[in-house]
Amino acid sequence: MTPMSQWQRLVRDVPDFPKPGILFKDITPVLSDADAFRAAVLEMVEPWRGAGLHAVAGIESRGFILGAAVAQALGTGFVPVRKPGRLPAATLSQDYALEYGTDRLEVHMDAVPPGAPVLLVDDVLATGGTLVAGLELLRRQGAEVAGAAVLFEMLALRGRERWTAQTPLLAAAAY
Ligand code: AMP
Repeated sequence: MTPMSQWQRLVRDVPDFPKPGILFKDITPVLSDADAFRAAVLEMVEPWRGAGLHAVAGIESRGFILGAAVAQALGTGFVPVRKPGRLPAATLSQDYALEYGTDRLEVHMDAVPPGAPVLLVDDVLATGGTLVAGLELLRRQGAEVAGAAVLFEMLALRGRERWTAQTPLLAAAAY
């Protein structure tokens, strides 16, 4: 077990994953430690208590783990924002660029009612492409994106500069 304030130290650097030259920040040691996991989720949750959110939208796949925990803590619903072809009903899709490739996100067209306030959640803010795509996708779906919460941001990649939305983008830690 780890002191609650120490979860940041458990994030593990894995060089050259999934491709040479990428320094992958592995959160699985945080997730597998009960105190660290709870502390990390609480830090993401705290700014949003009382915000009147309808749902938390988590981005596949590590955004599901954190987003579902955040939704439970806030007492909201959960909306999966998924990779292509995984959602069974009618979807909207949004293409985006990754630090290591390109991809597409999808959400169910009826995920939330029009104007419903939603918090977007992912594990890492790297170049920012994923989070911005999630924001645009949810807005096109009709949601009111109240803001975004990530476990941490990678400052050198300056993803925050791409978040031009007039809503908060909060990171519980930065490396
Ligand atoms: P980006 O779109 O560049 O901000 O990338 C963010 C998404 O890709 C998140 O869903 C992360 O899980 C993942 N990701 C990108 N780069 C890394 C990295 N260096 N370490 C861990 N996850 C990463």
